[in-house]
Amino acid sequence: MSNNFRLRITNHRKIFFNYTRDIKCFSCERDLHDSYTVSGNRGKTRCVPCAVKYHIIDEVPEEIKELI
Ligand SMILES: [Zn+2]
Repeated sequence: MSNNFRLRITNHRKIFFNYTRDIKCFSCERDLHDSYTVSGNRGKTRCVPCAVKYHIIDEVPEEIKELI
């Protein structure tokens, strides 16, 4: 399984694998380099567990459950 999974939830919310950008989770400050990242509105990015916790997404998508 590759890390090419990408999911657009709405126009401003999507889940993608962050290969290059040097960003941190807005909520827990975890380094998101080389990991799945959820971009929300207002430019905030979060790790997937925080995105679920803060209701950016409803749940961790089945496809990446074992990868985060
Ligand atoms: Zn986080």
